[in-house]
Formats: sequence, structure tokens, C-alpha cells
Amino acid sequence: MIADHHPFDINDSGHLTIGGIDSVDLAQKYGTPLYVYDVSLIRENCRAFVNTFQELGVRAQVAYASKAFSSVAMLQVIKQEGLSLDVVSQGELYTALTANFPSDKIHLHGNNKNIDELEMAIEHDIGCIVVDNFYEIELISKLLREKGKTMDVLMRVTPGIEPNTHQYIVTGNEDSKFGFNLSNGQADRAFLQLQEHDHIHFKGLHSHIGSQFFETEGFLLAAKTLFQKMAEWQHQYHFTPEVLNLGGGFGIRYTAEDQPISYSDHIRDITAAVREQATSFNIPLPEIWIEPGRAIAGNAGVTLYTVGSTKEIPGVRHYISVDGGMTDNIRPALYQAKYEGVLANKASHPATDTVSVAGKCCESGDMLIWDLPIPAVDHNDILAVFSTGAYGYSMANHYNRFPKAAAVFVENGRDQLVIKRETYHDVVKNDMSYE
Ligand SMILES: *Cc1c(COP(=O)(O)O)cnc(C)c1O
Repeated sequence: MIADHHPFDINDSGHLTIGGIDSVDLAQKYGTPLYVYDVSLIRENCRAFVNTFQELGVRAQVAYASKAFSSVAMLQVIKQEGLSLDVVSQGELYTALTANFPSDKIHLHGNNKNIDELEMAIEHDIGCIVVDNFYEIELISKLLREKGKTMDVLMRVTPGIEPNTHQYIVTGNEDSKFGFNLSNGQADRAFLQLQEHDHIHFKGLHSHIGSQFFETEGFLLAAKTLFQKMAEWQHQYHFTPEVLNLGGGFGIRYTAEDQPISYSDHIRDITAAVREQATSFNIPLPEIWIEPGRAIAGNAGVTLYTVGSTKEIPGVRHYISVDGGMTDNIRPALYQAKYEGVLANKASHPATDTVSVAGKCCESGDMLIWDLPIPAVDHNDILAVFSTGAYGYSMANHYNRFPKAAAVFVENGRDQLVIKRETYHDVVKNDMSYE
């Protein structure tokens, strides 16, 4: 274990290993920047959620939020592990169908689903659509009528629970582009509208209150708020909720400061709270659905870079530049996200220097890590950045016309390319000449 908080080892050559493979060999074989995934960690993360629900004997669906990292190979692994899948676009749905993901386990999200997306979802009889707004209710019901089909639907609501430093606050006044407002009557109106449509089968409520939570408290407050509303509907309209979906947001370790609790503990606490609420409101226990994204993919991924130029500003800062940056990991620039890394080829050397890791893009904000303790750096060293498995490749972009990096899966001492590195031909392939 590197520094006791990243789940990777060092071999006899002093190199970082990922899934039993020397990362320096991987960098040589596939080039850099390179996303490397330890598939056994992906499976371990999936099983922590799925097995805990099983042990507790509750009906549940663990839906991987594929926006965290969607590729055919990734969804094949998710399918093998028996999870369900969240998609938020036609591209993510298309990827799922290409991976032969069982369509009845796919859930469609999004605050602006268009007709093409909804048609594709309905044509392939996906498991459910999470309805987000009034416009969408009309679109779905029109399409279902035309096609003579029915569809299971959840309603996304904004329960007005916000993390406020270390506490969660319940606000009556939510401001979000997603979902129906729970406190101003919109959710009630949506409920009544959904009941009017024969082709729509309304199963229950969904909320997703945010991301990177280290406590279960936010989920528990959300569960309580959603139950209150469902109990009202049970009382007034004899509605029996079949599903309670509490979304994703389970926190992971990016740096030593992050102290996530185990996924099993989250699930035990959530299940206990849902059981208690169901009993107290006298509602039959609904299925519990959750939607982890980064918790599945995040810590399983490492990005390998090659160090190029360095710049020492005496008394100010020591910059090292790598061959990637905000094009393969935009989170530091977008959210001031923090990461840790090691020199993969000097993983057992003690840190003697402090450097800041710069990306290659023409943008001062293109920094990957500030103030990283590290051994003496040479050109062509391999830098490994940890916990880049979620929202890295999926947010990759072509700024400065960098081709997107490749991704490799490693498992049981075997490495396999699962996303090819883009070529310069790929970069210009949609450009047309103007004559
Ligand atoms: C982003 C998102 C998730 C996943 O969030 P993570 O923090 O990656 O777990 C789950 N559900 C919904 C609706 C989301 O928007």
C-alpha cells in the first residue's frame, strides 16, 4: 500500500505496480498519458454495495452512474458484477447497448431529455426513466401512447438537503436545475399528472443530493424527507411506493485528508434508516436503489504521465510539467480537486523535494497537483496520479487539440487495452475544408 492510503504495491525494482503489473512497463508499452484501471478494485467496490444489501436481506438495486467512467469494457465488468446502470444521455445509452448491458437494468436520467433519447429508451424497453420535469412527462406519455408501450418511472425531487461544511442543512427553498421541488407543490402536481397517464407506471421517488460524502447523514435526511412525501401520497391517494432511490455521492479517498467510511457501513445505516421510516409511516419496505459513480471507478484508476520540462523559481516554486493535464483530468481546474501522486519508477525513494505538477495546456489553471512531496525528479520519470478513475476519461476533452489518452485494464497479472489512444487523424477527422 502506497503511503497506506492508495491500494497499490511496490515491486522489487522499486516500481509502482497496478494489479500485479509494473506500471513503468505499462507506460512503455502503451505510452503516456495512460489511464490504468485495476479491475479487481472495481469488482471489490461493486461487491461492497451489492453484498451488503444481500446480507441485510433487502431488495435493492445498485446502479453504477456510468457518467463517472463509461466505456464498453467498463460496462461489461459492471454487467458481470450484476449491477444496474444509470445513463444520462443517448451516448451513454448507446455505449450500454453496445456493451450488451441488459436494457431492463438501465435507468435514464437527465434534466433535458430529448425526443431521440426518450425514443431510444422506450424502443429498447429500458428499466426506468427518472422523470425530471413537467415537459418530460408530456413527452414520455405521448411517445408511449404512440408506441403502445408502458414504462416504469421514478420522479426526481430536490429534497432541499445541502451539505454545509460538516453538517447537512434542510432548506425549504431549493435552487437546482434538476427535479421537482418537494416543498412548493410541484412534486404533488407531478404525482397527479403521472397518475393520469395509463402508460406510465410510477414507482417512487429519487433524490441525489450531491457528491463526495464521507458521512451517511445526508442520505438519511433525504430518506426521511422522501418518506414524508410518500406517506402523504399513501394517505391521500392510496399510493404504495415500490422504490426509494437515494442517488450517489459516496465519498472516496483522493488524498490522505479524505477519510471515507466503508461502503458497507453506508449501506447498513441507510437500510436501517429506511426500515425505520417504513415502519414508522406504516409503508411496506420499498426497494432501495442507490447510484454510486466515483465510488465504483474512482480509486481503481491511476493516470500515468511522463515528466518533461521542469522549472525552478528559486524561493517560489518548483514546477514539473507532464504530458497531459486538464485534457485528461479537468477536475483540478474545474473544482480545485486535489490529488496525490508518486514517481512510479522511484516509488520507494523518500520524498526530498516539493513540486507542483503542471499540465501541458496553454492555460495557467492547468495544474494537476500543487505542492506534492516527491523524490528528486528527472526528465522522463513516470508520474502516477491516484484516484483518477472517475470523471477523468469521461470529462476528457480536445483542448489544444490533444488526442484523448488510452485506457488499459489490468487484472490477475494481465493487461489489456480497452480504449485506444486517439490519433491526430482522429483529431481532424470531422474537419471539412473550406473552399
Ligand atoms: C452524478 C450522479 C451520480 C453519481 O455521483 P457520484 O458522486 O459519482 O457517486 C448518481 N446519481 C445521479 C443522479 C447523479 O447525477
